[in-house]
Amino acid sequence: MSEEGIVIGVSSARCRLFLGGREVDCVVPSAIAKRQRSALAVGDRVTAEPVEATLWRLIEILPRRTVLSRPDPFNARVERFIAANIDLAVNVVSIKSPPLKPRLIDRFLIAIQRGGAQAAICVNKIDLADDRDAALQPLLTYEQLGVPLIPCSTKSGEGIDALRALIEGKTCAFVGHSGVGKSSILNALDVRLRLTTASVHEKHGTGRHTTTASTLIDLGDETYVIDTPGIREFGLWDITPQALREAFPEFEEAAEWCRFNDCAHTHEPDCEVKKRVERGEINPARYEAYTRLAQEI
Ligand code: GDP
Ligand code: ZN
Repeated sequence: MSEEGIVIGVSSARCRLFLGGREVDCVVPSAIAKRQRSALAVGDRVTAEPVEATLWRLIEILPRRTVLSRPDPFNARVERFIAANIDLAVNVVSIKSPPLKPRLIDRFLIAIQRGGAQAAICVNKIDLADDRDAALQPLLTYEQLGVPLIPCSTKSGEGIDALRALIEGKTCAFVGHSGVGKSSILNALDVRLRLTTASVHEKHGTGRHTTTASTLIDLGDETYVIDTPGIREFGLWDITPQALREAFPEFEEAAEWCRFNDCAHTHEPDCEVKKRVERGEINPARYEAYTRLAQEI
């Protein structure tokens, strides 16, 4: 008799499932295992059948509602899934140590949006800001685009309740550069977790165990959190120039006035987007992010 479960962790040839209120090990048949690290993702809904009392066998991966993926760092033609079936992806960033990396934020937001999930930004280590408004200023453009912005501190406790309210009843992936305090945030959200946290210095040292794969954590009340490995560079999976333009919704209205209707807003004459950037009507930082990404694809 097959049952439906949810993937909480993936390793070679096996995965771990929540199934009927318990956690079980599950064998992944070789056809799926061959492509497994890309074919199966944490958060996947699957069907499985029992082999022995505590061991199950995967039958089928059910269709995904949303995904969060990126190209394999070593082979750009292979898609690596960070999480599946998430409602929300929270990009955890920090004000200082490590400093804000707008390039990385843009890439995360595009990947999240393309995969079909909602995005939010958790701005951690707000306690380290000398001037709060100045520190948050570079992030306001995201908030204007409808991405919730939550200043947080695991030291002072600021923002933790707001974050808890935001994720309640949802399946959420937490993504971010290592050292931003993602583990500390997850621990603050649920004291039962006790994920290992480390100083930035320790984490960059050699021989230390850090998370290398995503894991799904059940916080109760239908709230699931997927902890993902700290990511330093984030490539974009299979993005076309068209998809890139769509990722910048604030260009959309202006683009209707460009001379060419397939205007890339880079080198073309009579480009309304460029004119509005010059007039300060479109945020120059966002336009820069766009042109950087446009050059790469
Ligand atoms: P992760 O790599 O993103 O999981 O980061 P960790 O949770 O391991 O935290 C990295 C470092 O940042 C640790 O030394 C934490 O003590 C520190 N840290 C985490 N949250 C905060 C915060 O809100 N404020 C300050 N000042 N430091 C923090
Ligand atoms: Zn244009």
